[in-house]
Amino acid sequence: MIKANPYYFDLSANYLFQEIARKIKQFKEKKPDADIISLGIGDVTQPIPAACIKAMVKAAEEMGSAVTMHGYGPEQGYEFLRQAIADNDYPSLGIDIDEIFVSDGAKCDVGNIQEVFSQAARVAIPDPVYPVYRDTNIMAGRQIEYLPCVREAGFSPALPKEKAELIYLCSPNNPTGAVLTKDDLKKWVDYAKENGAVIIFDSAYKEYITTPDIPHSIYEIEGAKEVAIELRSFSKTAGFTGVRCAYMVVPKALKALDAQGNETSVNALWSRRHSTKFNGVAYVVQRAAEAVFSAEGKKQVREMVGYYMENARLIRETLAAKGFTVYGGVDAPYIWLQTPAGMTSVALFEKLLNEVQLVCTPGSGFGTYGEGFVRLTSFGTRENTLKALERIGNLSL
Ligand SMILES: *Cc1c(COP(=O)(O)O)cnc(C)c1O
Repeated sequence: MIKANPYYFDLSANYLFQEIARKIKQFKEKKPDADIISLGIGDVTQPIPAACIKAMVKAAEEMGSAVTMHGYGPEQGYEFLRQAIADNDYPSLGIDIDEIFVSDGAKCDVGNIQEVFSQAARVAIPDPVYPVYRDTNIMAGRQIEYLPCVREAGFSPALPKEKAELIYLCSPNNPTGAVLTKDDLKKWVDYAKENGAVIIFDSAYKEYITTPDIPHSIYEIEGAKEVAIELRSFSKTAGFTGVRCAYMVVPKALKALDAQGNETSVNALWSRRHSTKFNGVAYVVQRAAEAVFSAEGKKQVREMVGYYMENARLIRETLAAKGFTVYGGVDAPYIWLQTPAGMTSVALFEKLLNEVQLVCTPGSGFGTYGEGFVRLTSFGTRENTLKALERIGNLSL
């Protein structure tokens, strides 16, 4: 009989998240009338900007006429969208539209990009982190070194102990809400240059940065185009989690070695991969994404991000006033709440659920170094966020 991919059995079944779901279900069965508020999930709640909806409707109508309908589009994305991205996201960083690849999500991009690198490449992944980096490399059978992100270092990942060739960085960070400074990023770009490594820089939350001088793009660091791939998404920027559109920058200056040991273009490899396995994002979706960069769209995005960040401020300040130690929530929609002394992530999760019917995400689900923290998101409605905070006020500590 055919053998299954053996590496799939190296994935840790996500026991923790299953366990959490089970505990919530159990609680609901026991108290069917309880009004549970979730600040646990990482999904958005506010409507998609009106400018995007308008563009999407117009594009949908175009599809209804033989003259204006669109069939297969370019796999890499329509030029109108790639041009809008280059002009608006990278006006002074010199990113060419041939270096931008439009996709149906940063999750897919982050999972797929590793395919163009050797299976033998050693991978370095921060801990705690967005689990997709880890699981996709486990599926590929790669060796992973986890980089501890500790409070004392501002949750900035430590440099690898062994030489790494593929490095994942996420700033602003999910789940800690921490950001990498220019100095932090320069350290990584230097490391990558010295070690012939490639950095996968996930900036899905760049729209949430409020602190001045925090880089929004890794290409703000000199020489980064030779060592870094950058991912962005409309999911958290414009509420596209259910619409699906993202993009990845693969600079032409980025090289890897071919089978003969000669330098080869990673952009060309990714272009080959993308056009072989992907048939492009829906025309209506790309038109909606383009509208994010219109004057109206930009204003609506600012309002939406402002709404979530006001939630973040309320959560941070209420928790701090209650005596909790909190991190994040300034440059990211995530608040990283330290558990009271001696309490595990899961114990605080249970306390919040049982005492005040509030759902959070235990930090241990994001990695070993997430233990001792829980993640709260500011993606809820204002009403639910305020209700949740009122309840935290009543919590016995
Ligand atoms: C939400 C998120 C993404 C975006 O994923 P999409 O597939 O574009 O919705 C990427 N990276 C991180 C760290 C995220 O939290």
